[in-house]
Amino acid sequence: MKRGNFFCEGKTCRGSDGQGAGIGPKKLKEACGVCGGFSRGEDLPYLTCFALYALQHRGQESAGIAVGGAGEEKIWLKRGMGLVSEVFPSTDLLRERRGSVTVGHVRYSYGGEGWRPENAQPLLLKYRHGEIAIAHNGLLLNGPQLREELEERGAIFQTGSDSELLAHLVARQGSPDLEEALSEVVPRLAGAFAFVLTDGKKVIGLRDRHGFRPLSLAALGREGYFLASETCAFDTIRAQFLRDVEPGEMVVLDQNGLRSRRIMPAEQPSLCIFEFIYLARPDSNIHGVNVHLARRELGRTLAREHPAAADIVTGVPDSSIAAASGYAEEAGLPYEMALVKNRYIGRTFIRPSQKLREEGVDLKLNAVQKIVEGKRVVIVDDSIVRGTTSRKLVRMVRRAGAREVHLRISSPPIIASCFYGINTPSQEELIAYGRTPAAVAEMVGADSIGFLSHAGMISSVGLSGETLCQACFTARYPVPVPGARAWDVRSS
Ligand code: SF4
Repeated sequence: MKRGNFFCEGKTCRGSDGQGAGIGPKKLKEACGVCGGFSRGEDLPYLTCFALYALQHRGQESAGIAVGGAGEEKIWLKRGMGLVSEVFPSTDLLRERRGSVTVGHVRYSYGGEGWRPENAQPLLLKYRHGEIAIAHNGLLLNGPQLREELEERGAIFQTGSDSELLAHLVARQGSPDLEEALSEVVPRLAGAFAFVLTDGKKVIGLRDRHGFRPLSLAALGREGYFLASETCAFDTIRAQFLRDVEPGEMVVLDQNGLRSRRIMPAEQPSLCIFEFIYLARPDSNIHGVNVHLARRELGRTLAREHPAAADIVTGVPDSSIAAASGYAEEAGLPYEMALVKNRYIGRTFIRPSQKLREEGVDLKLNAVQKIVEGKRVVIVDDSIVRGTTSRKLVRMVRRAGAREVHLRISSPPIIASCFYGINTPSQEELIAYGRTPAAVAEMVGADSIGFLSHAGMISSVGLSGETLCQACFTARYPVPVPGARAWDVRSS
């Protein structure tokens, strides 16, 4: 697969839309949410379902829960295509389960994998020492090589998933002790991953040595523990946040409580900064930073860096509203809800024809004529990927009567693809790649455009820039990608 200046082969390195030019994501897309826990309380299976509801924004294509441990002879699994509410239309099924360990997953598949039911997770695999249920968030850079190696040694893969790869590695390692097996094989994995898995007795959480994808730990009830991609899941099930799982750490939850061991040396921390800009839910805290407050600060900084002579400020619902309110506060301009989102457009929404698309017909968003008529409008958006949405928005707001439309983006220009688990188009398809902001403004039809600076982004989030991956803004990759430049943080 050729992606801009970068080359990836095999199924695993598949950050491109994989569907051909022009139909890929308009926004960067998250690639899964994981959770799971250990508890003797009988509520664990359906609490896991509630946690998945809280993580639904991280993936809407499939959902699943595996239940094992006390009361379950074997690992029970229910997974399917669709939203959590579609796969688990009632909690009755889960109330019947009596297990003490669970693993849950919501999935956003890469286009290349398509909507294949067998790729829904958790994956449940049998091997000579028992069963393993695995849920994964991320992308393994050396997945294709490992897969080829295993296939040459006779392994037969049922899915295109990295989770199955891990199961094969564990099975071949030979140890009946899952912790031992993982300690040995996980250091062979390169790239971005947060795994939650179970052998039916214990639940294990793993984070890659750079910590690209988030994974947090909470106390559940009097003696249970729970892991989730985001802390908003803990609030939903009344679990008490304890800490983030460290890069390179393996945590084990079982009847003996909580154990932790570092199975890989921690390397340059590289949490994905896009979690703060767009991906995570506003009520989540990541590395101690609240996502909503970070977004509002991004907007405030943006207003200082790129003021606009305007009458009103509006945000693109939902993820840009916090940044837009910060922009309006800092600029001393009124915030108006000039864009309204239709929340009832499901995944089955049939895209309008090219003609309707070009005319700007959009079922998802509408501009409020009475608010924008005759006004100079600032539209704050969190990012621009291809520019398709921005072009449509500008046209929509103008058509509703705006006198001027000024775009303000609460992140720097995206100039490079992601290879760490976030679905992005190829570099050439990114509107900001190789273009000045003025050229981007012209392409989307805005009167002006302003992108947040790198320094402004880092100071707004409030974490050290050296602990964050920003590769889609800099093309400097913390973990070398074939054909891309390695990022030596210490010299940058
Ligand atoms: S390249 Fe961008 S989207 Fe991918 S992990 Fe890094 S910051 Fe996140």
